[in-house]
Amino acid sequence: MKHAHSLQEGIHVSDAAQSPIAEESIISLDRRVSSQDGSAKSVWRLHDGNLVESLSFDLNPESFGTVEGAVGGAAPVRTPRGHTVCVSSQAGCNVGCRFCATGLQPMKRNLTAEEIVEQVHRTRRIEERTTPTRVIFAGMGEPLLNPDEVLRAVTLFEQDAEVEHVSVSTIGVVPALQRLTREAPSVDLFISLHATTDEVRTRLIPLNKAYPIAEVLRAGADFATAHGRMVDISYLLFGGVNDFDEDADRLAALLDPELFRVQLLLWNDVPGLPFSRIEDEVARRFSARLVDGGVSTYITPSKARDIDAGCGQMITEEAKKHRVERAQGALLPLV
Ligand code: SF4
Repeated sequence: MKHAHSLQEGIHVSDAAQSPIAEESIISLDRRVSSQDGSAKSVWRLHDGNLVESLSFDLNPESFGTVEGAVGGAAPVRTPRGHTVCVSSQAGCNVGCRFCATGLQPMKRNLTAEEIVEQVHRTRRIEERTTPTRVIFAGMGEPLLNPDEVLRAVTLFEQDAEVEHVSVSTIGVVPALQRLTREAPSVDLFISLHATTDEVRTRLIPLNKAYPIAEVLRAGADFATAHGRMVDISYLLFGGVNDFDEDADRLAALLDPELFRVQLLLWNDVPGLPFSRIEDEVARRFSARLVDGGVSTYITPSKARDIDAGCGQMITEEAKKHRVERAQGALLPLV
């Protein structure tokens, strides 16, 4: 069932004028929306008027899913816990992933390291957080298409006592991924694969033409080997597109279980896009098949779906008018 994308009962909206926060900052709070699941989306206005979003939430082991079929090899990425902020690295995105709301809005510009770091600092002050924060580059934009500023932000976070550690989630921009391996050994890496053949992945993620699955996984394996820490392969399940038993078998065959584990995600509805959210049972079956194939896996429950801030849902109100037009390009058969 599609969820309502209008604000629902129980969701609290505030805007900058009503907010007690009136500090000088390179970004200003445009508005904040709180989800019924406890997460909160902040919409930030940049100095040039562009809007970006970040999402904050608290992670506990349950909210990350139980890892099944764990094997030896490289150490797993650090167990997520506590306060987490998912930051944007670009205003808009020009990768154009067919399933992503952000990809439906025009790319405006890269964010500076300071604009990235400030999303975390401002969120912490608004929420009066005192314990360290975990940062994930998985908001608007492809972080490895803005590598200079993202790497500078990682360095700033590393020196920041308020930040516990940083994860980067990428589609897999191979040259920048190799640079990340050399220059950012402290980060945890998530690679968004979402398909097991180049044909399907290119339809979902046009950038796959430039960086196909084998190259992306090779770069991921190099990262895991260099730092002795597993890389998480994010796999968004789309009903009837990439959720077949054959996909699970191919995925297990593609991955070295000593270097990779799989994070399964259920796609969050984006109106106008030709995908359907699968039932939880399908995800459980897919997960069991991966475990049978020797690969560790876990299912991450969706966050913030009711406020359009879940994975792939981030899009500014201003950009919604572009959505229908751009979505037409997504209505091609995928399989
Ligand atoms: S999934 Fe990431 S890289 Fe793809 S369009 Fe969305 S923001 Fe850009």
